[in-house]
Amino acid sequence: MIVLTVLCETDHEFEGWFASAEAFETQREARAIACPACGSTRVRRGLSAPNVATRKGREAEPVTAMKPGLSADQHRLRAVLAALKAEVEASCDYVGEAFAEEARAIHYGESDPRGIYGEASGAEVEALLEEGITIAPLPRLPDEAN
Ligand SMILES: [Zn+2]
Repeated sequence: MIVLTVLCETDHEFEGWFASAEAFETQREARAIACPACGSTRVRRGLSAPNVATRKGREAEPVTAMKPGLSADQHRLRAVLAALKAEVEASCDYVGEAFAEEARAIHYGESDPRGIYGEASGAEVEALLEEGITIAPLPRLPDEAN
């Protein structure tokens, strides 16, 4: 048995015991549930107290919902990576495909010194590192497509 809060068409609120939510629907459609205040059988299901509490709890959860299939550790890692990535994106200039070129220009003083991020191929990254240019890969989120 479950207790449901029921509202009639004029918003009288009352509680009823039902075998299940389905049983409530069946009885409601058959107009078998009458409001004790006005006798109306046009009723609908209200929010019962426990439901309201659950809804509030759900709203309090962070926006980054758990993705199914990832462990708690992966979630923590993902959160750290996402924060790091957001920081880089907020404080650095995006130079896209020109990353290697721009990193080199900054290193040799041909371009304004600043943080940049963008795309570079494995060979470009290797060449930059060989030239002593400090770069670091931007973290990729585990579920992000390449
Ligand atoms: Zn009523």
